[in-house]
Amino acid sequence: MNTPWGYPDFDAHEALHFVTDAKSGLRAIIALHSTHLGPAAGGTRMWHYANDADALTDALRLSRGMSYKNAMAGLPLGGGKAVILADETRTKTPEMIAAFGRAIDRLGGNYVTAEDVGMSVADMIAVREQTRFVAGLPVAGGEVGGDPGPHTSLGVFLGIKAAVRRALGKDSLDGLHIALQGAGSVAGGVARLAAAEGARLSIADVDAARAQALASETGGTVVATDTLLAIECDVVSPCALGAILTEATIAELKAPIVAGGANNQLATPADGERIAARNILYAPDYVINAGGIINVSTEYLDDGDASLVRRRIEAIPHRLEQIWAKAAATGSNPAAVADAMAQKLIGRG
Ligand code: NAD
Repeated sequence: MNTPWGYPDFDAHEALHFVTDAKSGLRAIIALHSTHLGPAAGGTRMWHYANDADALTDALRLSRGMSYKNAMAGLPLGGGKAVILADETRTKTPEMIAAFGRAIDRLGGNYVTAEDVGMSVADMIAVREQTRFVAGLPVAGGEVGGDPGPHTSLGVFLGIKAAVRRALGKDSLDGLHIALQGAGSVAGGVARLAAAEGARLSIADVDAARAQALASETGGTVVATDTLLAIECDVVSPCALGAILTEATIAELKAPIVAGGANNQLATPADGERIAARNILYAPDYVINAGGIINVSTEYLDDGDASLVRRRIEAIPHRLEQIWAKAAATGSNPAAVADAMAQKLIGRG
């Protein structure tokens, strides 16, 4: 990693914008990692961070992840991400979102946003009032658009099936036990698709009511958040926040597969090697979770319809298989293989 500013997660990002709007109280960071393949695209996360440094780290890591994700999905987009630094109750006002929309507009199309954790379709409609550099807007009459979540879920579900085929030699999730971390938008979609195919689910969310609602809907079982990763099961699917695969949690894993939609699952690059060393099949997060940005890209660039979006998402398992095969052939690990492929695609290999 290239750290000329002395900041650990700085990776030669092209630009960082620190946004302050005193009137509305908005504080945000818009990180443009790379525009090599096109405008820097990636969602906006609204989150309460323990401190500003954590928010910056998140923006730096997430925007780099978007460069890799968009490149690996074959999209003509660079990578960027915005984080809004929320207060403890995550107060969100129309004035704040309007100020955020104006900040995006000032970047002149170098950054294109959409939903991420804490941001909804309604928020994107409000952002659209200030700028056209936004996607994830509602759809009408067969157009492509809307909440990227269900598209991300579909890609993750297909990626889990590919991992199950490779690691367990099974074509169906019927009877398999999946441990889902999170019960939000992405996890919810994965849970419904997996349950419909006969999978048994264990679900954990810091929002206990959310976990219970999803478990009731899918016939799953709620488990404690601090036990989820160590459950004896077939697949662990991290679909909440990042940096959850650490030296300590990897040592506790009992599943032969880790495949989920959360961004930045590995706390450090060394954790990709640690998972491989335990003979656990890992689906690189930004490859398996590209379904949402595939939909966003098709909406924003207006270059296809819903069936093309589906075909593009259905290519995710093939991409994962290529990565796993290359890792097996070279003795490298899937995360490192994916990073090297992505870096080459964005002209940094
Ligand atoms: P969401 O806000 O709908 O759901 C996230 C859920 O995770 C919430 O219910 C939250 O309470 C829960 N959570 C937070 N910390 C937790 C913890 N420690 N243990 C268990 N649960 C916890 O968000 P989402 O859209 O479902 O996104 C989930 C993840 O997927 C994020 O990492 C996001 O960046 C990533 N992602 C989302 C999309 C998308 O299209 N929405 C696309 C790509 C990647």
